[in-house]
Amino acid sequence: MRRKYSRRSLIVSRFLIPFSLLAALLAACQPAAATPDVNLALTAAFETAVAQISAPTATPQITDTPVPTATIPRTPPALPGTYQTSMLKPEDLPRTYVTDSCQYIKNKWDSTKAAPGTVVMVVMHHGINKGEASGNDVTVNEHKKIMDSLYEAGFQAINMQQLSDFMYDNASIPQRSVIFIVDDRHFAEYFNDHWRPYFDQWGWSVVNAYIGIDERTDLWAENAALSAEGWVDFQSHGYIHNIPISEGSTDEFIISEMGGAISSIQKYMNKTPIGYTWPGGGFSKRAVEIGPTLGYKLGFTVNERGPVMYNWIPQADAVNDSNPMAIPEVPAGNPLMTLPRYWSTNVLDHIDTVRAIGEEAAAYAEQNKAVELEYYDIVCAPTYGPIP
Ligand SMILES: [Zn+2]
Repeated sequence: MRRKYSRRSLIVSRFLIPFSLLAALLAACQPAAATPDVNLALTAAFETAVAQISAPTATPQITDTPVPTATIPRTPPALPGTYQTSMLKPEDLPRTYVTDSCQYIKNKWDSTKAAPGTVVMVVMHHGINKGEASGNDVTVNEHKKIMDSLYEAGFQAINMQQLSDFMYDNASIPQRSVIFIVDDRHFAEYFNDHWRPYFDQWGWSVVNAYIGIDERTDLWAENAALSAEGWVDFQSHGYIHNIPISEGSTDEFIISEMGGAISSIQKYMNKTPIGYTWPGGGFSKRAVEIGPTLGYKLGFTVNERGPVMYNWIPQADAVNDSNPMAIPEVPAGNPLMTLPRYWSTNVLDHIDTVRAIGEEAAAYAEQNKAVELEYYDIVCAPTYGPIP
């Protein structure tokens, strides 16, 4: 939003320019102690000038701006571009989604919120095999190595609500965060064996993208017991799950898949999911539109693009050779509903990249801080207030 100057206030400004010059001259040859007198004299002259204009509507322009500097409209500086990096594939470009630049700058520099450069590695897990790994699974030893490596690199695990609050409002989370999303149904043993130790040691939670269709009530019961403990965060992964949503899916099917999963989790776990993991990685523009109307805040693909930051989500415009299996997210129109995920099998190769992207983004933000704050002061502060 841009402050508007009426023709009338421009007239007032014209009257005031000579007084500003006078102020500058006086200030230049007076010791500091004389300043209050100068201001008084200026105020009197200012009021005289205003009185000569029969323009009562001009008054608010004058009373809320100090004499004399702010009476000359300040031109807001051009805002810097989004942080770019060569550490991702060239087609996986960071997309922004906060359209209000004042709100973005306010959230970004609010000292009570996440520091610029706060980065989240979103990880997709499937099986963790006690024997040899196959397909998308990892072995128990690989899993341990992933967890230890992330911990040693300074990462901490967050849950879905924390990620949502961060992505929407830049709410405070650890500067290096990781969210583990385990797809599909598992026995409680899976969580007790492979995830509980990290909750006990470091307070790390894990998300389970659960399938809504009710086949085994005993399985629901043991997962519901984990949900009640709080550290396994159950979210949605479709209702029938085995038919991925595609551009050809009807609204009826989309609503039954996405809405059905909410109903099941509400029924068995007494909680309302806000994260939707697209079964089979399939989504459509229509499903991305419908999801938020059902209550979803975030959606997750199987596309490995990069980490995410506040107002920064790497996505592709089109199918491309660097990631030919990945459905492009940009045409679906809502980056928040199509967040990328790293496959657990590839996590170890990317920890350093994620850390470096966070550091680079923090440095880029720092470099642009003065310009953004000046822009905020001129354009935003009158309506958005000071940045906490
Ligand atoms: Zn699945």
